Amino acid sequence: MANTIDKYCPDCKEKLKRYDTVKRIVRGKDHSQKLVAIERYKCPKCKTIHRDLPEYLYPFRHYESDIIDGVIEGFISPETLGFEDFPCEETMKRWKKRGIKPRL
Ligand SMILES: [Zn+2]
Repeated sequence: MANTIDKYCPDCKEKLKRYDTVKRIVRGKDHSQKLVAIERYKCPKCKTIHRDLPEYLYPFRHYESDIIDGVIEGFISPETLGFEDFPCEETMKRWKKRGIKPRL
């Protein structure tokens, strides 16, 4: 396979082997949904599965990171046009409480 970058286990520095590809639905603005393929790699030494997450996703979150940032910074709220029920108010409250915005 061309242009494959070698990946290494962050714990034991072993070269990871391609394991499989998982599909994930990512929700974006305007209720759009897109399917992204996430490649998984397995460390031959510690057997840990590592996922290759695209940069625009925060790990384990299903919304694009700019929406999450907007909610935490306060310029997207449940009253914002286009975001009335999306993400839901409870989700927004949870994000604000946790303050998952990356620190500068
Ligand atoms: Zn390892």
